[in-house]
Amino acid sequence: MKYFPLNNEQLTALAEIYPTPFYLYDEKGIRENMREFTKAFSIFPIFREHFAVKACPNPYILKILAEEGCGADCSSLPELMLSEIAGIKKDKVIFTSNETPAKEYKYAYANENIINLDDFTHIEFLKETLGKLPETLCFRYNPGPLKHGCNSIIGKPEEAKYGLTREQIIDAYRICKDEGVKHFGLHTMVASNELSPDFFIDTAKLVFELAVEIKEKTGVQIEFVDLGGGLGIPYKPDQKKVDYDVVAKGIRKEYDRTIVPSGLDPLAIYWECGRPITGPYGYLICRAIHEKHIYKEYIGTDSCMADLMRPGMYGAYHEITVSGKENAEKDHVYDIVGSLCENCDKFAVDRKMPEIKTGDLLIIHDAGAHGRAMGFNYNGKLRCGELLLREDKKVIQIRRKETIDDLFATLDIAGVETFK
Ligand SMILES: *Cc1c(COP(=O)(O)O)cnc(C)c1O
Repeated sequence: MKYFPLNNEQLTALAEIYPTPFYLYDEKGIRENMREFTKAFSIFPIFREHFAVKACPNPYILKILAEEGCGADCSSLPELMLSEIAGIKKDKVIFTSNETPAKEYKYAYANENIINLDDFTHIEFLKETLGKLPETLCFRYNPGPLKHGCNSIIGKPEEAKYGLTREQIIDAYRICKDEGVKHFGLHTMVASNELSPDFFIDTAKLVFELAVEIKEKTGVQIEFVDLGGGLGIPYKPDQKKVDYDVVAKGIRKEYDRTIVPSGLDPLAIYWECGRPITGPYGYLICRAIHEKHIYKEYIGTDSCMADLMRPGMYGAYHEITVSGKENAEKDHVYDIVGSLCENCDKFAVDRKMPEIKTGDLLIIHDAGAHGRAMGFNYNGKLRCGELLLREDKKVIQIRRKETIDDLFATLDIAGVETFK
């Protein structure tokens, strides 16, 4: 049974103050998980998680994570700005972007954020943009065919648009060293929603060996490796949470084998995870508003994939429970759907559930990362708001719902009247 922090009475009362649909985040869950993650990686001399802002771009959440020692991983100007608003500054922010516009590089540089270059040609582009290269630079490595076993969301590295090849990356460090860059990092991200600890241990090994090779070939001393994101979460009931200790200890073994004898110790270990940090601690709450009996049984909700597109877009599984019916027998089979005029707008297909009545509150689990963040306005849908359940069980609104005025804000409505 998936955990939810409020009972039916509490959730019903909350939905009277804040009409559904809404997101609810559990501060206690976020903090406890972050402490567990940090503790596991405390076996390294230097460690930091840089939360991938795109997973949950709300500055209240970022501030909680900052208090737990996190930095931020950003991929756009607004994400850099949100980190700044949350008090995450300077080298605690890593700018891992691609196809980056000049003005975004300028902003990151002006704020002394760490710039992580996605391509060889961006060395020259950055130099032209800034008039010089920053003192610290990181490069994103694409291992191509050297890394196997990647899952379908991110695909095979050799078909991914990200990063530099092995040959390019060695040249990149050599050139930047000659240009006077003083501090270097090495980044890779080759997984998404991966649950196997071995996958990450193997990735770390690949990156550590490359750091050693870079040192041997160019004399560049890599000071941090950023292992990217991609740590998965158990969306399905039969899956298990990744054991952070197993990952940390496995990586430590590779560290002792490669990094320590090479003279690269102490090498800082960075992550830029999003999903495991907030994913399990965010819920999309919606209400069953219709039931429909045709060739199949449907439950219509007051939400839709504009609030959570993962099921519709990737066929992703999200556990759904009915508030107050947690222990009821699952003797019905439903498609649980949203109101978008797209047939893929289904939160669940052929799902065994207890009997759902109109008015029931549905809890869609594991929606705290890549949930509200991926929302959109297609079909005139207004994205829902976000609530935070504080550790003292009080609830505060950390983002209001969108209004029709928000939706029309980019239109000159008055102009339509004179337009012909
Ligand atoms: C999306 C992304 C992340 C976070 O991925 P998760 O699966 O949420 O952990 C980290 N780094 C980069 C570069 C990304 O694109």
